[in-house]
Amino acid sequence: MMKRLLAQIVGLLYENQCSICNETCSNSIVCKFCENEFVIRGDNYIKHLDKVKSYVWGMYEGKLRQGIINLKNGNKKLAPYFGKKIAELWEKFPEDIKFGNSLVIPIPSHKKRIKERGFCQTSLIANEFAKTLSLGILNESIVRRKETRFMNTLQSVEERKNNIKDAFEINDRNSIYKCVENIFIVDDIVTSGSTISELASTISTYCPNVNLIGVAVASGDKY
Ligand SMILES: [Zn+2]
Repeated sequence: MMKRLLAQIVGLLYENQCSICNETCSNSIVCKFCENEFVIRGDNYIKHLDKVKSYVWGMYEGKLRQGIINLKNGNKKLAPYFGKKIAELWEKFPEDIKFGNSLVIPIPSHKKRIKERGFCQTSLIANEFAKTLSLGILNESIVRRKETRFMNTLQSVEERKNNIKDAFEINDRNSIYKCVENIFIVDDIVTSGSTISELASTISTYCPNVNLIGVAVASGDKY
């Protein structure tokens, strides 16, 4: 109680608000109270998908879930915050991946959704991830040509696969051809993994020998 009160007084001095709970907090995007409630994935941080291994930072629940929802609802400040968090996964990546030439590609949003939201949250997360780790990034080489339904509204894996099938298109083949050894595909939430798998399969058509690694902020309990 006293701690919170003190945090509020300090917050007033700096006029800063937590981007998740809206309580005043010192000079960070997210307050310590919210951060302490995040459930960081332990040993089950890797999800093995068709063509790609995916590393997930936290559990999609509680305050982390709220943070991702707030980001999608327009709180842009949370994107670089989450980008830094997923960069912490670096130490879990295999050694050969750490020392190869790498590029970062965010899962693109459909242009209609970018217009509604004003930004593409995965691009912003990926920008910070790339910046923190000094990696190159390709932001506009791949587009989402199909307007897909939200994955969490679909129940079966089959429905999710069909929803995302052929959704992506490479519009700048030259940049992808400059193939590197590793490509990190960045997403906010992993549900069944169909989205990362679909983008991985689109990329591997052009770069069959590249290592594809998925990186995401959160995934739910089932996954
Ligand atoms: Zn908070």
